[in-house]
Amino acid sequence: MNIKSGYTLLVKHSYRCDSRNRSKRDFQRSAYVRRTHQVSRSRAPRYLVFLMASDCKFPTERPHSTGDSESGKRVVICGGGIVGASVAYFLSKRGVSPTVVEREHVAAAASGKAAGFLTLDWNDGSPVGPLARASFELHEKLADEFGREQLGYRKLDTVAVAVCERGDGNPHRHRRAPNWVDGNVEGCQVLGTTASTAQVHPERLTRALMDASGASLVIGKAEGLVLEPLPGGGSCVRGVRVGGDVIECDAAVIAMGPWSSLAARWLPIEAVTGQKYHSILLQPKEPVGAHALFTNITLASGAAAEPEVYPRPDGQVYVCGEPEAVPVPESPSGVRVSDAKCARIHRQAGIVSSRLAGAELAKAQSCFLPISPTGLPVIGPVEGVDGAIVATGLGCWGILNAPMTGKIVSEMIVDGRVTSDIDVEPFLPRAPR
Ligand SMILES: Cc1cc2nc3c(=O)[nH]c(=O)nc-3n(C[C@H](O)[C@H](O)[C@H](O)COP(=O)(O)OP(=O)(O)OC[C@H]3O[C@@H](n4cnc5c(N)ncnc54)[C@H](O)[C@@H]3O)c2cc1C
Repeated sequence: MNIKSGYTLLVKHSYRCDSRNRSKRDFQRSAYVRRTHQVSRSRAPRYLVFLMASDCKFPTERPHSTGDSESGKRVVICGGGIVGASVAYFLSKRGVSPTVVEREHVAAAASGKAAGFLTLDWNDGSPVGPLARASFELHEKLADEFGREQLGYRKLDTVAVAVCERGDGNPHRHRRAPNWVDGNVEGCQVLGTTASTAQVHPERLTRALMDASGASLVIGKAEGLVLEPLPGGGSCVRGVRVGGDVIECDAAVIAMGPWSSLAARWLPIEAVTGQKYHSILLQPKEPVGAHALFTNITLASGAAAEPEVYPRPDGQVYVCGEPEAVPVPESPSGVRVSDAKCARIHRQAGIVSSRLAGAELAKAQSCFLPISPTGLPVIGPVEGVDGAIVATGLGCWGILNAPMTGKIVSEMIVDGRVTSDIDVEPFLPRAPR
């Protein structure tokens, strides 16, 4: 099952409507508009590596310098993947200078290892559809802002190809297949055109967003929240525990991808989980055209394989596959790469195209998709804990949906409600069942 088609099935089969009676945009109950619980801003502990997010090459203007926010809101974002970076970027556009706590480095996990495929309409018909459409458009605006070349952004055609490893010695060309797909093509179907599919380099985008946000980057592990009971019941966020110390704040955003499950120990929310994939980057000797490929390969053994192939504007070709249901390790650096699985992906890509068979292996890597129990993103405030917001579980469309997710979360924090025309009701965090 392809990652993308798998996601669609997951949504179709496992989406259940939240029965709680929450009005669509009513976040007034939360602390985002509360000004009565402000505490003085403290500096991050000295022994933490405290950095400006300036290790990025993109010459972007910083909307706001690190320091006290114009808005007076003190926000800590836990996780420096594409979701955390998007939240930081859109908060900075609203005058908030957030602090990002990242355990390893920016884009250390899936956000630095994903394909970066974007689609306008593949989520239509699911609750994610409007979010995906808005985010697809936002990607193009971001590419124009940061520079298409710098972000590795381009529009491209997308096809599904059925290829058979065992042939009669005369490769079958299909009239719709790209000319570099020279394996035994048994079928080819157009899935998208330059009007509806595009790609971006996920790591470059994540770093560009983080850098442009001007966020203060604290390298350390978010270990918990400091919560204060409220007189009328419930509690509010006062800080994030990092390395045994506390960074004070009025709002904390949980954006730790599959590691957001840690926050289920701090907050009344369901835990997300993860699914492991391997991916490789190939450097072909002959150029490969701008076509994303969703493959269905019949191997000589009779088994099937479905690697996804994404040529990039820089000449490299990204290929991913080998899904595995294994536990998420304690930290991103604990994600092990299997040379055997990467070699298998390379061999399968070579069945599709001789240019990929002869390509040099430039990188072998592995990462986890963040998956929620409903199969839908989890975006929104945590009921009963003012100032706690979750933004995770974006599944196999996390690169696509991160920009709009960041915008929505910034609206929740600054405006106390979602002002974009997106129904977030299906995404609101649920209490454990
Ligand atoms: C093989 C593969 C291909 C994909 N291709 C696509 C694609 O083509 N298009 C698409 O839209 N999506 C794609 N995705 C999905 C996308 O990569 C993810 O949904 C997205 O990157 C998730 O981003 P995130 O910020 O939520 O999480 P992550 O990228 O996992 O980032 C979480 C961050 O939190 C940090 N962290 C963890 N624990 C802590 C802690 N305790 N304290 C502080 N920081 C912590 C981690 O170090 C990490 O940097 C793909 C995923 C995979 C696996």
